[in-house]
Amino acid sequence: ITAYAEELLQECDRLKGWPERVLTMQRNWIGKSVGVEIDFPVVGSPEVIRIFTTRPDTIFGATFMVLAPEHPLIPTLIARQDNAEAVQAFVQRVSREDTITRTAEETEKEGIFTGRYALNPLTQEQIPIWIANFVLMEYGTGAIMAVPAHDQRDLDFARKYHLPVRVVIQPPEGTLDAETMTTAYVEEGEMINSGQFTGLPSPEGKERIADYLEEAGIGRRTVNYRLRDWGISRQRYWGTPIPIIYCPDCGIVPVPYEDLPVELPLDLEFTFGARSPLEESEEFLRVSCPRCGKEGRRETDTMDTFIDSSWYFERYTSPHTTDQPFSPEAAAYWMPVDQYIGGIEHAVLHLLYARFYTKVLRDLGLLKIDEPFQNLLTQGMVIKGGAKMSKSKGNIVDPDQMIKQYGADSVRLFMLFAAPPEKDLEWSDQGIEGAYRFLNRVWRLVTAQLATIQGVTVQEDQMQALSPGVAALRRKVHQTIRKVTADIERFHFNTAIAAIMELVNHLYQFTGEEREEPGAQMALREAIEMLVRLLSPFTPHLAEELWHRLGYTESIAHVAWPSHNPDLAQEEEITLVVQVNGKVRSRISISPDLSEEEMKQVALQDERIRTLTAGKQIKKVVVVPQKLVNIVV
Ligand SMILES: [Zn+2]
Repeated sequence: ITAYAEELLQECDRLKGWPERVLTMQRNWIGKSVGVEIDFPVVGSPEVIRIFTTRPDTIFGATFMVLAPEHPLIPTLIARQDNAEAVQAFVQRVSREDTITRTAEETEKEGIFTGRYALNPLTQEQIPIWIANFVLMEYGTGAIMAVPAHDQRDLDFARKYHLPVRVVIQPPEGTLDAETMTTAYVEEGEMINSGQFTGLPSPEGKERIADYLEEAGIGRRTVNYRLRDWGISRQRYWGTPIPIIYCPDCGIVPVPYEDLPVELPLDLEFTFGARSPLEESEEFLRVSCPRCGKEGRRETDTMDTFIDSSWYFERYTSPHTTDQPFSPEAAAYWMPVDQYIGGIEHAVLHLLYARFYTKVLRDLGLLKIDEPFQNLLTQGMVIKGGAKMSKSKGNIVDPDQMIKQYGADSVRLFMLFAAPPEKDLEWSDQGIEGAYRFLNRVWRLVTAQLATIQGVTVQEDQMQALSPGVAALRRKVHQTIRKVTADIERFHFNTAIAAIMELVNHLYQFTGEEREEPGAQMALREAIEMLVRLLSPFTPHLAEELWHRLGYTESIAHVAWPSHNPDLAQEEEITLVVQVNGKVRSRISISPDLSEEEMKQVALQDERIRTLTAGKQIKKVVVVPQKLVNIVV
């Protein structure tokens, strides 16, 4: 994967449909840093210690060096040293600790002096070589130049072991005291105590020192990535067998193409123990060498599950293909995935591996895309009392119990309504209670209207010239269809449900004489049907039941999603008359919902009115709601 580090990083910028949080995690995981590799000669030895630093401008402040306990040079360095045994004991002890604990900020930094010195190539000073727990072989070169004045870890270490501290970067304000400072100054600044480079600002100093090191042949500019290669073998049964045979004569031999795939044996004994059961199966193990025919043994490690999950979606494009993993033609037609959904815990594992695999398959000529997932939604967690639900915290909610008490529809509606899906959802018993009450309200509304709208069919030609109340109901219905459809597309289920709730409120207010108007029954029939159809993805059981009570025999699941009529959804507009000093000067179309203040603002911002009132003092503005604004100047 390291071969693709740069491309994986660059293309983060092109993933416009991904949450920024995931991209940041991937960028940090890839961890590109541009810096300089520098060789520090070991005093009294032909060896050099190579370090990587992003801050060559601080090299004059490097007062000691630190090696990872696993550094390969250590045995050479400590041979014939008086304290060799103590160093070996330290190395053995620290190497056994896990690297996460070792490098954690709160872990006490500890180290041991090797007895040897290196030459700082810029100061020509001899500086002591230490070994410490906080340096890892996996990062950089496994060795660092320690600049205690400008790195907190190095400063903590220097204070503990009484190592010299030298300030070489001057902050823009204030001065640093090497003797007493407890907080390292890690920002850039002006180089001081730095020989010929003194006075340079950090950015320029970095370049000049890199030039100097390259010319002297003791350093070079280089790019470092935090990303490591991926060990894919696992010592367990469940996984794809690695198709390799070990022959006593030929060594490592791949299983020939025609013998693929190697399948897992099914007749195994699963016993407790550290060994993979594959190692116990002679039938699986014994195989003749494909090259010389001699008896060999199969590899018993299987592949990491991420191997399979990195490309399974390609298989979905041609699930019946038998002679290849997937059909490149089908993949070219279907890929990339338009919308992918997964938890944030996949940010730097599955989601990074899948991107990597896509690029590898592309370079093998099997895919025509660079990236697998166009849009990504990372759903939030369900939390209770502010904490992630867990057995140990005892804040688990039993969904079966909830479903028994309120029904699956209420539980679903609550979860979809409580938060947008990318946010964490705070579990609330009152919330479910609220969803339950709302669905009861829907039930009462629809069942109460059944007698009125029974046998009514919606006929557009009989729905012209409607009274204001009936027209308003139709407008609300079509606006709701428009909003719910758009919100579902964007996964804004909570606002979609809120819009349905508004429609229900509107229907409850559609009472009395309005319902006697021409077309009212048809409009009511349309509104009730649309309400049920819009609810059906959220509360399928309730919707199905109501649908049948409305007289349909086909399942609502097979009914097409409704579409709104843009003309009907259009907000009704009224004409606002604007006067200046009592004379009509402008007419503006506005929504009847505008408040008096909004009407005033619309009038004052009208272009003709602005011209007429320019440079004049407005003494008074009179507003007649939904009709008129008079401006007195
Ligand atoms: Zn062989």
